[in-house]
Amino acid sequence: MSVVDVLARLVAEPTVSNRPLTELAAYMATRAEDQGFRVERFESEPGKVNVVASAGPVGTDGLILSGHMDVVPVEGQPWTSDPFVLTERGDNLLGRGSSDMKAFLAATVEGLERVDVSKLSRELVLVWTHDEEIGCVGSRILVEQLAREGRPLPKQCWIGEPTSMQVLRMHPGHVAIRVVTTGMSAHSSKPDLGKSALKEMTRVLSILEGIEEEAKGRRRLEEYLDRPYVTMNAAEIHGGSAVNMVPDRMELTFGYRPLPGDDPMEVLDTVRERVSELDASVELIRATQAMYTEDGTPLQGLLCPHACTPKLGAASFATDGGNFEQLGISSLIFGPGSIDVAHAPDEYVPRASLVQAVDIVEQVVRSRCS
Ligand SMILES: [Zn+2]
Repeated sequence: MSVVDVLARLVAEPTVSNRPLTELAAYMATRAEDQGFRVERFESEPGKVNVVASAGPVGTDGLILSGHMDVVPVEGQPWTSDPFVLTERGDNLLGRGSSDMKAFLAATVEGLERVDVSKLSRELVLVWTHDEEIGCVGSRILVEQLAREGRPLPKQCWIGEPTSMQVLRMHPGHVAIRVVTTGMSAHSSKPDLGKSALKEMTRVLSILEGIEEEAKGRRRLEEYLDRPYVTMNAAEIHGGSAVNMVPDRMELTFGYRPLPGDDPMEVLDTVRERVSELDASVELIRATQAMYTEDGTPLQGLLCPHACTPKLGAASFATDGGNFEQLGISSLIFGPGSIDVAHAPDEYVPRASLVQAVDIVEQVVRSRCS
């Protein structure tokens, strides 16, 4: 089998987030077992599996290779070929997930065929996750399970997301919160008998706008991020029931992106504090962790010679690396394919980058673990 065949096999599994990915997880687990890895399957719920495979002496000085097995949906996208059939077109290989990020999975499967993992001197761990695309859900559950087990893991992790072969060492997070204002219903002919939850929400919105303006003034990491401050978005608002009723409930969802190294709950705490005088409640919906890896890790030294530029960068998108950080693991993001085509119709990976990635996997694993 060539790496292109492996990629075709992986793309043929329509592992869109929220659908079962048992088949693909089984394939990745079996390939690892055949290569001599000890494989553990962590089931989060029926149909949802994270796969952890390890080889070599257990320890913290080895290496983790990680990627997500799920892909984004194709509905409504004008594909010119079947998104779940890998299709060659010129120098490119088209298919959903070809770039994000089954290319890296395939390169790893193929690259490790060339390494005798029974002879490793440092531990090599493979971590394949589910539901990354809907907020790094699978890795969050896995990290909790691994933390409970207390198993030592290598502290260096390579996440092969598509970066057009640049090494990225950080990304912002994303926090979604819900603000609910409450009032009292009344007929609109006698509005003074009620209290408008909508008017209360306009006060909340102006407070949020104030917080957003202040955030723009706190710039950090300017050499890495094109928006080096916490960006915010009042996204959805629901409430009210009829034009002749004073609304008694309004609900707002609000998102913000903590910078790498930030306490992700800081903005939430500020919102809570500033709306505390209002009839408003604030709750966390979901937090996707930011990631921040120091400059100069050993893995950086191994990846940079293969990178398109020696300059390290930041990802605009979130990865499982934010969750891995909770286990004290430092990740670098580096892989074939481009994020610019990743979620688009006719997603592709250049064949040459895929083939190159196989060699890089082999060399990095040999350098770190043999
Ligand atoms: Zn991805």
